[in-house]
Amino acid sequence: MLNIILFGAPGCGKGTQAARLAEHYDLYHISTGEVIRSEIKRGTELGKSMEGYISRGELAPDSIVVEMVRDFMRTHNDKGAIFDGFPRTTAQAEIFDTMLAEIGAKVDVMVFMDVPEEELVRRILLRGKDSGRQDDSSEDVIRNRIEVYRQQTEVVADHYTKQGKYEAINGLGTMDEVFARLTEAIDSKR
Ligand code: ADP
Repeated sequence: MLNIILFGAPGCGKGTQAARLAEHYDLYHISTGEVIRSEIKRGTELGKSMEGYISRGELAPDSIVVEMVRDFMRTHNDKGAIFDGFPRTTAQAEIFDTMLAEIGAKVDVMVFMDVPEEELVRRILLRGKDSGRQDDSSEDVIRNRIEVYRQQTEVVADHYTKQGKYEAINGLGTMDEVFARLTEAIDSKR
């Protein structure tokens, strides 16, 4: 099993690289943001309860997100996965570690993709033009997501640094350059 957390601010390129990494290492891929968006699109009760958080650029409640990941793990527990956008709080990380331990698994590595704030905002606004994501089109919401990241998510790096699992890479450059840095960082921890 190989479990990889792809970590970084909104717009750092996690989603794009996660898909490539999943293919490269033959792993599953879960984006909690994608799961939430799909619930909203399908108009489920769960989706409805999360619409407000997303549109304001706030985090969804830990309890809900953790249950989504628990559900995913029930059916994807054989080879490992790329976790994209999860865990985003220390509470999520602690529950996640326990959840993996219960099936005899663990996080192998967290890789942080480092991208400066102005570039994050530029990329998200660009993406918002064709993704149609409501949280990608307003600069205020984008700035708030980055602020929430700084206040609640950044500390999750400390959690995995203490476990000796943290790696950081430069997230600027071409998609191929960033991918090469990611695989190098991941392979150093396998
Ligand atoms: P981005 O990384 O560009 O913000 P995501 O698709 O990862 O995009 O997430 C979109 C939104 O979904 C977040 O702003 C947040 O509201 C919600 N979300 C995603 N993952 C989590 C999580 N692990 N905990 C809480 N909220 C989450």
